[in-house]
Amino acid sequence: MKKSCLGAIEFGGTKVICVVAEKYDAVIARIRIDTSSPDITLPQIQAFFKEHGPISALGIGTFGPVDVNPKSPNYGVIQATPKPGWEGVNLSTYFAESLGCNVVVDTDVNAAALAEHRHGAGRGLANIVYVTVGTGIGGGVIANDQLVSGISHPELGHIGLRRHADDRDFAGCCPYHGDCAEGLASGAAIAARWGKPLNEFDVSDPAWDLQAYYLAELFHAITLMYSPERIIVGGGVSSEFLLQKVRRSLYIAMAGYVAALKDESSLDQYLVLPTLGNSAGSVGAFLLAGRAASVEISPN
Ligand code: ZN
Repeated sequence: MKKSCLGAIEFGGTKVICVVAEKYDAVIARIRIDTSSPDITLPQIQAFFKEHGPISALGIGTFGPVDVNPKSPNYGVIQATPKPGWEGVNLSTYFAESLGCNVVVDTDVNAAALAEHRHGAGRGLANIVYVTVGTGIGGGVIANDQLVSGISHPELGHIGLRRHADDRDFAGCCPYHGDCAEGLASGAAIAARWGKPLNEFDVSDPAWDLQAYYLAELFHAITLMYSPERIIVGGGVSSEFLLQKVRRSLYIAMAGYVAALKDESSLDQYLVLPTLGNSAGSVGAFLLAGRAASVEISPN
């Protein structure tokens, strides 16, 4: 195998996807491994890359929380997580030492944001925000073609929102903030509030409108803070039907203040679904590997 191959890992809470590829769309080998305990899962991943490598660099997009600051002594270390055995695991040093290559670690959400920016719904745009609305809500921000980070990665899912006037009883389900965006509009919040997923409601049910209101509040805040050219909305809760309602709600919330979005039809291209689907995570991890290959330690 040529040394020009890169390795990519999409590290999820239930499964790990590992890829060896020369280009993001030219995959040489791929495997899916169940996420078990670190002493079982990590050697399985290592064995895959040793069999199909050598790889010249490795990119990892992982579930969090994880330290993604390359200047931190804990870079690549999984932080406090309810997943048994994973807290304190250093993905960066484990793979750098066992595979003998540079490793870049970022969040799964940032990896998906990179993938959609480069090859998906954000292609050709320098400033985008990718938001995933699934069990939780997370977001990756790309400004001037670079992921935004500082003391940590942005935590868009935990922005506080204005409560809907008719929604005073539900306290929200975020263990930290109660009624932040994730506490009010994530898949977990939908389950806690209604006991069933949104797609089991009739299309005329007001549940859709409440969900659209809260996501529009979140995207309004994102618009005012980051001024992106596009917001890409993925995750299991997102759908074109829901986004149609969110666009309408966002248009009302903005009240014509942002000139570039004064025409309601402009929101059709502003708020969109992802285009890479399930492959965004591994494509993003591959892009991280490209960074690992080009620099010793890649802060950007
Ligand atoms: Zn929160």
